[in-house]
Amino acid sequence: MAATIIDGKALAAKCKARIKEEVEHLSKRPGLAVIIVGDNPASRIYVNHKKKDCAECGIYSEEYALPECARQEELLELIDLLNGREDIDGILVQLPLPAQFDEKAVLNAIDPGKDVDCFHPYNVGQLMIGEHTFLPCTPAGVMAMLDEYGIDPAGKHAVVVGRSNIVGKPQAMLLLQRHATVTICHSRTPNLAEITRQADILVAAVGKTGLITADMVNEGAAVIDVAMNRNEEGKLCGDVDFEAVKEKASFITPVPGGVGPMTRVMLLENTLTAAKVHGK
Ligand code: NAP
Repeated sequence: MAATIIDGKALAAKCKARIKEEVEHLSKRPGLAVIIVGDNPASRIYVNHKKKDCAECGIYSEEYALPECARQEELLELIDLLNGREDIDGILVQLPLPAQFDEKAVLNAIDPGKDVDCFHPYNVGQLMIGEHTFLPCTPAGVMAMLDEYGIDPAGKHAVVVGRSNIVGKPQAMLLLQRHATVTICHSRTPNLAEITRQADILVAAVGKTGLITADMVNEGAAVIDVAMNRNEEGKLCGDVDFEAVKEKASFITPVPGGVGPMTRVMLLENTLTAAKVHGK
């Protein structure tokens, strides 16, 4: 039987409506500062999306666009200024930064209470021990999708393919916190298919078109495709062979229209959370 398609776009719209309503009931408007350095076209698109999402939900946003040749000190000074501003609840530095920047030092400079991307080591540590304020956007978006479609990770075998700090590792941690038995795979994992076939919940977060084929998926598995790749025709696609896998899985996310919209919503969620923590 063909899988149920998990509609990330529809769920994102529902979440946004709820966030907008919550924002309307706050004493002050939440504020997000987005910093972009240089002119990476993909980063420009992401930043525009973020500003548009904020406007739709009644969140104040401001953009700081620094030139490609900007210096680390300039960026750190700006972050310091924003850290001290009461009207700004969240600070987001769009990655990647140009080569002259020390990304780690930049992210560490953001006040953990305004770290709406959840990249600061303090927030990563809080996530590890289950005492988080913020959740990393993409993995949190995936968990919201599982919840919406009644896919309870408890007691299931979840296999996460990819171990990056922004997706794979925190995804595994969130699934573990929800009582899944979790296996993390990566580029050195031998016999990947043998492991993915054991998954009740399979999360692909690699960035390789067509990596997950139907023979690698257990009948009835829930398959979440985090990847955002471009195929040979330049079309957006995931890691999963969607057409073949949907005939075997019980649930599957499309690309586009799956995890991407939910990642965007989780940034709004974190900004709302920050505003509440700041007493708004
Ligand atoms: P990343 O930092 O490049 O990490 C990729 C991971 O995949 C690494 O852990 C790597 O293993 C592993 N890997 C590479 N080749 C593999 C193979 N043949 N078999 C198994 N594992 C393999 O990427 P990322 O930032 O996590 O992003 C992953 C994908 O998600 C990308 O397509 C990205 O565009 C997408 N993404 C989407 C969203 C969204 O909103 N939908 C958000 C973030 C990212 P090693 O660690 O051993 O190198």
